Amino acid sequence: MLLSAREVSRSFGSFVALANANLDVEEGEIVGLIGPNGAGKSTFFNCVAGDIPPSAGRIVFSGTDVTRASAATHARLGIGRTFQVPATFEEMSILDNVMVGAFLRHHQRGDARAAALDVIEFTGLKALTEAPAKSLGTPGRKRLEIARVLATEPKLLLLDEALAGLTPVEIQEAIALVRRIHARGVTIVIVEHIMEVILTLAERVLVFNQGATIASGRPRDVVNDPAVIEAYLGRRHARDRGAHAP
Ligand code: ADP
Ligand code: MG
Repeated sequence: MLLSAREVSRSFGSFVALANANLDVEEGEIVGLIGPNGAGKSTFFNCVAGDIPPSAGRIVFSGTDVTRASAATHARLGIGRTFQVPATFEEMSILDNVMVGAFLRHHQRGDARAAALDVIEFTGLKALTEAPAKSLGTPGRKRLEIARVLATEPKLLLLDEALAGLTPVEIQEAIALVRRIHARGVTIVIVEHIMEVILTLAERVLVFNQGATIASGRPRDVVNDPAVIEAYLGRRHARDRGAHAP
């Protein structure tokens, strides 16, 4: 078992953002995590990546209890995550941004640079290596966020809406990139609103609603689950038709 998250909960004051979440991930899996806005998906990632401690529960990664470990320890052990709102160094080049990640494993500047250049090529950013991050459009920014994390050489990659805001063609390219990352041996948990992405990539899906896990299973079964349709798909369908989501 690569990741075992048991009964993970997180409250903010009296507000329960995440209640008793369970997720076991085997090495080599791609697991989807879906649910409406505010369901607790990013909070769960924050707990698994060590960005915030859970209020209760236990998280074990590769046999090590990381429940209360720092984000730096999580990264060193091999948990990498993208952020919904990337913390990019805007004035810095793509190369320098990716090198920040590469320094986790490579302490010599030349080694970090070489590793970053590999990741930049792999993520399709080669032509933009020296460009400042601020010059990037949405697809470039999404790729840079993924490249920055890949440079830390994660065993487990948590993608938090890393494909949001892309056009249909860009989504297909991003799906291909996720597949190539997976083919390199990286285990993936992916949060994504675009159902096609989840159905295409995930072997297994977990559904959160208001902090609780309301369903889990094979993607096709889960999207046909009445509780999921009610909590998630129904709202999105309503919104897609122009109605306001609650
Ligand atoms: P999702 O990623 O599924 O959209 P989040 O995990 O970001 O949901 O948020 C779940 C709930 O927890 C939301 O109601 C959000 O407002 C709340 N929340 C998240 N982080 C904090 C925080 N640092 N302080 C207070 N409330 C928070
Ligand atoms: Mg989120």
